[in-house]
Amino acid sequence: MTLGEDDLHLALRLLRQRGSWEDDGPVTQYEAQFAEWNGSAHAFAFMGGRVALSACIHALDLKPGDEVIVPGYTCIVVANAFRFANVRPVFADIELQTYGPDIDSVRSRLTSRTRAILIHHLYGLVCRDYVKLVELARGRGLWLIEDCAHATGALFDGVPVGNLGDIAFYSSERSKVFSTVIGGLVTTNDVHLARKVARYKEEAPRPPGRLIEKILRNVQLDYFRRKGSEMPWRSRWARLAHGAERLQSTSREELRSEKPSHYGMKMPGPMALLGMNQLAKVSRFNETRRHTARRWDAWCDYRGYARPVVIPDSTPVFLRYPVLVEPERKANPGWLRKELGVEPGVWFRTHLHPAPGTVEGCPRADKAVAGCVNLPCLL
Ligand SMILES: *Cc1c(COP(=O)(O)O)cnc(C)c1O
Repeated sequence: MTLGEDDLHLALRLLRQRGSWEDDGPVTQYEAQFAEWNGSAHAFAFMGGRVALSACIHALDLKPGDEVIVPGYTCIVVANAFRFANVRPVFADIELQTYGPDIDSVRSRLTSRTRAILIHHLYGLVCRDYVKLVELARGRGLWLIEDCAHATGALFDGVPVGNLGDIAFYSSERSKVFSTVIGGLVTTNDVHLARKVARYKEEAPRPPGRLIEKILRNVQLDYFRRKGSEMPWRSRWARLAHGAERLQSTSREELRSEKPSHYGMKMPGPMALLGMNQLAKVSRFNETRRHTARRWDAWCDYRGYARPVVIPDSTPVFLRYPVLVEPERKANPGWLRKELGVEPGVWFRTHLHPAPGTVEGCPRADKAVAGCVNLPCLL
């Protein structure tokens, strides 16, 4: 949770300025700022990383019947974005050093229908086979999509992730590197793809005022939830007044891979203003996360667990710090709470988080589902 007092005050001010909500000026400004910050030629803002991925699929002109290789350890919303376009996700296994797609497994899934490969930088770690996967896609004439939902600001060879592939998406959902409660971006350095994303965005609906209001209320909820122990009364009041408005990140329809009616919106001005306020702080958040990770490194060494791997020439962001533990210990993460005094995470508990069910033929993803816990790095 990255929302601070300045974000809270901004949200409260925006709630009083309803008349400005239709102004798209801040969106254009936010997109330009993100592109510049990320070293990308173009950026486009949507209501969610998943929607940003749908824009990528549109821009790449993927057609019904096409196949895309996707890691078998991801979020259901990633698989859904392809399914909503009638494109078939074909799941490849991951490696257990950075939880990225395993190059040999990806190669084994290629068919004459494969049009693209989706890679990710999970937990903010630059994926182990990054360069090989880029080369594989280039060599076969396949598009490379980068899922940077966990990795905003991570670098490889001094370049932010998302810039080696053809097109990338980022998330500013509340649990990610920075928060607009709901939000995401597409970046690309290809002018033709940029034009197509721009056209997709033009046609995308704008969120209704009541959703914008709800999101701004969620800024308040998130802020006071984190400050609960310091400000018990204000936290309680926020919960009583607006607790019922708390937004769910994944709907029941999405868990069943059905397209929700509200899917596919572009980002409005108020969220872009929050995004800019957060973007100014991302590098500092990431510095803190890397610092905390050193503490978890020491704990891994002490406990005899393998540290997650930081590949040479990379700077991770450690959205969370993943550790592979015994499955019975993942099932009861209370021991971690007791031992480390922090709230451990269990992403992902299934192959297509948080939807039930499994993905076949991915034994290492099975291991991660059974044993990978993650520790918070922004305390
Ligand atoms: C959260 C997440 C997404 C989707 O981002 P939203 O902004 O929630 O739509 C995609 N991929 C991964 C790996 C994620 O964790």
